[in-house]
Amino acid sequence: MNPVLSVRNVSKSFGGLRAVDDVSFDVHQAEILGLIGPNGSGKSTLFNCVLGQLPASAGTVLVDGKDVAGKRPCDLNKLGVGRTFQMLQVFPEMTVLDNIILAGQEHKGTMLSRLFGKPDAGLTEEALRMIDFFRLGHQTHEKAGSLSYGQQKLLDAAMAFMAGPKLVMLDEPAGGVNLTMLADLKERLRAFNQERGATFVVIEHNMEFVMSLCTRIIVLANGRIIAEGDPETVRNDPTVIEAYLGG
Ligand code: ADP
Ligand code: MG
Repeated sequence: MNPVLSVRNVSKSFGGLRAVDDVSFDVHQAEILGLIGPNGSGKSTLFNCVLGQLPASAGTVLVDGKDVAGKRPCDLNKLGVGRTFQMLQVFPEMTVLDNIILAGQEHKGTMLSRLFGKPDAGLTEEALRMIDFFRLGHQTHEKAGSLSYGQQKLLDAAMAFMAGPKLVMLDEPAGGVNLTMLADLKERLRAFNQERGATFVVIEHNMEFVMSLCTRIIVLANGRIIAEGDPETVRNDPTVIEAYLGG
């Protein structure tokens, strides 16, 4: 079976700066791959190259074995690939339900129905199921801005999952989330992975979170992969410890 995602020799330069430098890795169905590394090591840039937000300077990205060069983020959404950003993307003045429906419409390329009519019943049902799955059901009709920050991060992830569940790329899902909500978030991500076979790539600074959630971890420093392996191996790798202390 093809890997869900195959990143081959991808580089990205900004002027003289090589933000991502010859990075290659595969992600297989139902893996949860953690992508860690000091600030500025190229994690978000790599996400942007994979998701079509930025053209790579070199290399190939394959989704299900198909080259996605030149594909836009919305094309990737239609292939079942979703993402979150470091910054929340929820619309605070819209209800939880409307945020999820809008995300579904964007991913499925039916913005016109948003502008000119009601969402189809199937999409509303799917949105309600997603809200239930993330245990936001009691807040379905509340404005997203009235939710706690942790709940908004859950909502933000749920919106990305409306594109999936083939591959979901999460940029710092645990950032700024308090301890109680952190356990909830991890438990729901794991359930989504196990029950729906979704594949994740997760950028995360919270080591406890990433080590306990991910099945495999890749460490970037200065745009290059410096270590890769299961959480325990990576945690004890002196090169990794040095990269963090030096970075
Ligand atoms: P991380 O997500 O690991 O913190 P980034 O991918 O955001 O790192 O950044 C990697 C490097 O590329 C940093 O040195 C950053 O300043 C630089 N960089 C990121 N985006 C741009 C851009 N649009 N233009 C110029 N430099 C950028
Ligand atoms: Mg980043």
